[in-house]
Amino acid sequence: MPLVSIVVPCYNEEPVLPMFLEECGSVVADMHSSQGLDFELVFVDDGSKDGTLAVLRQAVPVGDYCAIRWVSFSRNFGKEAALYAGLSAARGDYVVLMDADMQDPPALLPEMFERMQRTGCDCVATRRATRQGEPPVRSFLSRSFYSLINSISNVEFVSGERDFRLMRRQVVDAILSLGERNRFTKGLYGWVGFTTEWIAYDNVERGAGKTKWNLFGLFRYALDGIAGFSTLPLQISSVGSLLLFFIFVVAVVLIAIRRLVFGDPVAGWASTACIILFVGSLQLFCLGILGQYLAKTYLETKERPLFIVKEASDEG
Ligand code: UDP
Ligand code: MG
Repeated sequence: MPLVSIVVPCYNEEPVLPMFLEECGSVVADMHSSQGLDFELVFVDDGSKDGTLAVLRQAVPVGDYCAIRWVSFSRNFGKEAALYAGLSAARGDYVVLMDADMQDPPALLPEMFERMQRTGCDCVATRRATRQGEPPVRSFLSRSFYSLINSISNVEFVSGERDFRLMRRQVVDAILSLGERNRFTKGLYGWVGFTTEWIAYDNVERGAGKTKWNLFGLFRYALDGIAGFSTLPLQISSVGSLLLFFIFVVAVVLIAIRRLVFGDPVAGWASTACIILFVGSLQLFCLGILGQYLAKTYLETKERPLFIVKEASDEG
């Protein structure tokens, strides 16, 4: 029987976990009998300070077709790290990423599966149909972020996309093969490619507990995304430096001509100005070159694979 891993990152989710286990349990039971699937729930306790781990220890599987496994971090490493740990631990032929707070409704799972079987796609991803119920400032900033990052990065980001997605084993292996430390999973999905189907659903309120994100946290997250998937800021500063270098060189030439034509009414001005411009332009020139190499080195240090093969004629 095909195995489905459901990966659930949890940070201080004690109040909502019993609800999640119950709801997920019933969806899993249905899918086991109707679609013949086996399951494992892989929880990642991201250094919770409440009773999350105790709840996980005591969690009882709904049946022999659904194992419960968990990993617990030594401290809070953040959701991206939790997702990575969960993906590494998952053994399924299919893997689902799902939040513990019921904002990714487990009830949507059968539809996601059905869509994957029907279309033969590699991923079924979800996004919010509307931003209703979200503070206007947050919506505005979030929209601006998506349009900015889409214009400066060659990976596609979908506005309102959630981490809630179903992937085939091949996609999970591709994501795990990206060795970078600064992980921005929403960009990695786009980077590895594969065919993706989208399902939109209305925003769901948290089952219990409260969100771990504040505006500042989201801002830092956005910067991570930009730094991880675009070297444009570095390019701007390095091209800007080279541009200034040329302007300064022209200025030096103009000052020299002026000196020769009109003489030197303010003694020493021309030579002083030339020295300042010359040294300044030399520094900018070097900075520009440094920026180019730094951008390349940055991309190299990520050790992303050069390509990802989806199919080949001679697969053994
Ligand atoms: N989460 C985590 N580590 C963190 C923050 C969040 O594992 O440092 C988990 C959290 O337990 C939840 C999911 O990530 O399952 C989404 O978090 P949250 O609901 O707070 O975010 P929101 O839905 O408000 O964007
Ligand atoms: Mg949430």
